[in-house]
This record gives sequence, structure tokens and C-alpha cells, in this order.
Amino acid sequence: MSQEQDERHKARQQRLKEKVDARIAAAQADRGLLIVITGDGKGKTTSGFGTVCRAVGHGLKTAVVQFIKGSWACGERDLLQAQGVEFHVMATGFTWDTQDRQHDIEAALQVWQEAKRLLADPEIQLVLLDELTYMIAYHYLDVDEIMEAIIQRPPMQHVIITGRGCHRSLLELADTVSEVRNVKHAFDAGIRAQQGIDW
Ligand code: ATP
Ligand code: MG
Repeated sequence: MSQEQDERHKARQQRLKEKVDARIAAAQADRGLLIVITGDGKGKTTSGFGTVCRAVGHGLKTAVVQFIKGSWACGERDLLQAQGVEFHVMATGFTWDTQDRQHDIEAALQVWQEAKRLLADPEIQLVLLDELTYMIAYHYLDVDEIMEAIIQRPPMQHVIITGRGCHRSLLELADTVSEVRNVKHAFDAGIRAQQGIDW
């Protein structure tokens, strides 16, 4: 790089830094956030748990509610429960089978009661509602009731919702929304789910 290019680059970086610093200085508000991680790529639940780990590391009181129980125990549960994280998992395997619809609705409603209690508890500083989006998409849970509980939650409480196809109302209500896009996934190349990576 020529000296002239070097200097131009330096000046551009300096202007960028000033803009970023000004925005950081202007962002002074503190309040509980609603974060949605959606989209069809891999990384939604792991992102949710990544934030839970971050919060637990800072001593925040954190709880997790999982709306779909996989056929294997997920690795995060044992680790985080040992750190005092309250965990609730839907009591039945989610079947994707409409024949079991009534059974699934009851299980969803039951675990939603736990979520509702957590969303009303000012002691809880972060709640992860993993795979909640499907409960709304399948009309197992009422979106208005979920919206109400989230809107009425303690003002400093953070909430993370994960799952594909998040309902519009929640996207609009959220402070931060990230969409994880599928570029490629090992499964499509015939590689089965790997312990410690996929669950
Ligand atoms: P993860 O838990 O790995 O962060 P996720 O929460 O983004 O994944 P889910 O839709 O909840 O994704 O699915 C969980 C499981 O499905 C994981 O084993 C994950 O590797 C796998 N999976 C996620 N996205 C894809 C995809 N696009 N194609 C195939 N398998 C996927
Ligand atoms: Mg997930």
C-alpha cells in the first residue's frame, strides 16, 4: 500500500470510530430486552444458550423453558442446572404428528404455565423460551396471551425466543431480531446429528 493509501485508510477509520463512539455514548438506556433468533439455519438454540451462559457468568438469575423435547437429553441442561438455572422441558416428545395434537396441546399448555410464572417474577433476569415459535405456528398456544405476558413482564427482565417462522407480532414487539440463514448444513450431505454439536 502506498503512503497516500495508508493515510486515506487511517482517516476513514478515524471517522468511522468517531461515529461509533458517538452512537455508543448516545445509547444510555437500560431495560429488559426481547430478543428473537429465527430463520432456517443452524444456530438459534445455541445462540440462546450462549447468552444464557454469558448471563450466568455475570451472576444473573436465569431460567430456560424448552417447548420441544428432543429424543436425546440436550447437553446444556445438566451443565446449567448445576449452575442453578431453572429448567422446564415439555413433558412429551413433540411428535409432528397431528394424531397426537390434543396430547401435545396439553403438554404445551403445562410448560407455558411455568413460562408465565417466570415472566411475572422480577427476580428472574433472563428467560430463554426455546422453540416457542412452533407452539404459536401450530396454534397450540395463543399468541395474544404470550404477547400479554411478555409486555407485562418486569421492566428489567430479558427474554429470548428461538425457533423458525416467528410470528409477526413478536417480531414487531422485539427489540433485537436476528435471522439465521441456512447456507448449508452437514445433514444434507448425509451426516447424522453429532453429540455435543447438534444436541
Ligand atoms: P442449534 O440447536 O444447533 O442451534 P437451531 O436451534 O438453529 O440449531 P432447530 O431448528 O431448533 O435449529 O433444529 C435443531 C437441530 O436441527 C440441530 O441438531 C441442528 O443441527 C439441526 N438443524 C438446524 N438447522 C438445520 C438445517 N438447516 N438443516 C438440517 N438440520 C438443521
Ligand atoms: Mg433450536
